[in-house]
Amino acid sequence: MVKAVVGANWGDEGKGKITDMLAQKADIIIRFQGGANAGHTIVNNYGKFALHTLPSGVFYGHTTNIIGNGVALNIPVLMKEIKSITDRNVPMPKILVSDRAQIVMPYHVLFDQYEEERLGGKSFGSTKSGIAPFYSDKYAKIGFQVSELFDEEILKDKVKRVAEQKNVILEHLYHMPLIDTDELLSTLHEYRDMIEPYVCDVATYLYDAINAGKEILLEGQLGTLKDPDHGIYPMVTSSSTLAAYGAIGAGLPPYEIKEIYTVCKAYSSAVGAGAFVSEIFGDEADELRRRGGDGGEYGATTGRPRRMGWFDCVASKYGCRMQGTTDVCFTVLDVLGYLDEIPVCTGYEIDGEVTTQFPVTSKLEKAKPVFEKLPGWKCEIRGIKKYEDLPENCRRYVEFIEEHIGYPITHISNGPSREDIIYRESPLKKNNILN
Ligand code: GDP
Repeated sequence: MVKAVVGANWGDEGKGKITDMLAQKADIIIRFQGGANAGHTIVNNYGKFALHTLPSGVFYGHTTNIIGNGVALNIPVLMKEIKSITDRNVPMPKILVSDRAQIVMPYHVLFDQYEEERLGGKSFGSTKSGIAPFYSDKYAKIGFQVSELFDEEILKDKVKRVAEQKNVILEHLYHMPLIDTDELLSTLHEYRDMIEPYVCDVATYLYDAINAGKEILLEGQLGTLKDPDHGIYPMVTSSSTLAAYGAIGAGLPPYEIKEIYTVCKAYSSAVGAGAFVSEIFGDEADELRRRGGDGGEYGATTGRPRRMGWFDCVASKYGCRMQGTTDVCFTVLDVLGYLDEIPVCTGYEIDGEVTTQFPVTSKLEKAKPVFEKLPGWKCEIRGIKKYEDLPENCRRYVEFIEEHIGYPITHISNGPSREDIIYRESPLKKNNILN
């Protein structure tokens, strides 16, 4: 059985925690897209960790953790990350890397920096991890697959060909040092030696695993609104964040994905540029940012303060729909316990008309939030294990949101650790009423 864990919003919804929790019962956890540009925060008995490339199943001895072909693989970053967890007493996890995954090259990271500098105020707010140049090259068919590291002839020829093209841009557009092909080749030899123990024909491995009835989890990065097709283009990431892409980025048939857990945070946060309709500012935002997540809403990779906002039903309904949600995991609800009243964005006003359908970017820029205020519950809800034991206003908040997004909230997360989870029977689950 294959399940996906994906984000409904702009990322940072708490997918790491949910994946880590579901991984208790999984055999295989796969990252299928993105790269080291975003982080997943996990709190467990070994401590607090920010993972960037490793799947969130690495803390268990029974799991196999796979970096799928859809990932932007930064080999030295992966090695550093493995060391960073084993240095903190986590046993060496079982890791496999797809032989079809492509490699983030040193020049991808540089091009990302140079381009953001060139764009200045018009930049995309990239984390400068090389992700956009990496995916551009992948689709321009000048990327390097892991398998190619093991064929010296292909490698030499390709390094020469790619350097010729890149050096024109480095010289004439960015006025920066050129690629030295000998140096690049020797870096790739180092990469080859580092990655060799992990390389695997992942698609075949998964074919056998599915036939053997294994539990497989696909772990997404970022969320629907950062998807290059269905998100807030162009302020998006460069690989698809949707569960559907899990089939491609891992290498398994789409019909095997039976359950889609869409993680949705009880308020909103976003990083980088782009329209963010329910955004709040000033003291109101500072307080939510300070209290948010586990120790504040600051980027796990960059430490950047995240932009903050109230829950957005329009974006989240759309976010869940595009994922194909079977279950909503509603996270970080405990954080809202300080508020007397909680605004929720229930509609967008665009050119004088109110809509609940998420629009294309040009219209989104004009959207103004329509807020409804719900009463707060004014108490700590961490430690509560049963839905019925949540304060009435807290349950009203959950039910109000479920009604507006139209997807069943079956898991409620009320703290950062694995145990902080409440299972809920949703009236929407039986007949799956979808909007
Ligand atoms: P991801 O990229 O979707 O995995 O999200 P992040 O790693 O940015 O996770 C969001 C933050 O919220 C992390 O610091 C988590 O430890 C924390 N977190 C996750 N679930 C909860 C929760 O239910 N309550 C609280 N207070 N923090 C949570």
